[in-house]
Amino acid sequence: MCKLLTSPAAALRQASVAESSVVLPPVIREHIMTTRKIPLKVVTSLAVGVVLEAPPVLKASEHSVDYTCGRCATVLLHADEGQVHGILIRCTNCGSYNSTDA
Ligand SMILES: [Zn+2]
Repeated sequence: MCKLLTSPAAALRQASVAESSVVLPPVIREHIMTTRKIPLKVVTSLAVGVVLEAPPVLKASEHSVDYTCGRCATVLLHADEGQVHGILIRCTNCGSYNSTDA
């Protein structure tokens, strides 16, 4: 059958997130192991625009990027890169305002 258990310790180090991916080629494993995360820019004053609150995580798209709070790294927004502009997201975890405009 498969050779998943040839080296359990190494497999743990290499695939702590997607454990079933140890049999996949390295390129694919890196691609699916973690969702890309981009920290948002914390702003101190309210700009003109829409203010949303998260978490719960705002979802603009499914297969895309996790945008995280620039202060506490909580995932705030799930969207395609460059999809969301002109929105402030108030992190309900730490109270910071995060701008979706880099
Ligand atoms: Zn935060």
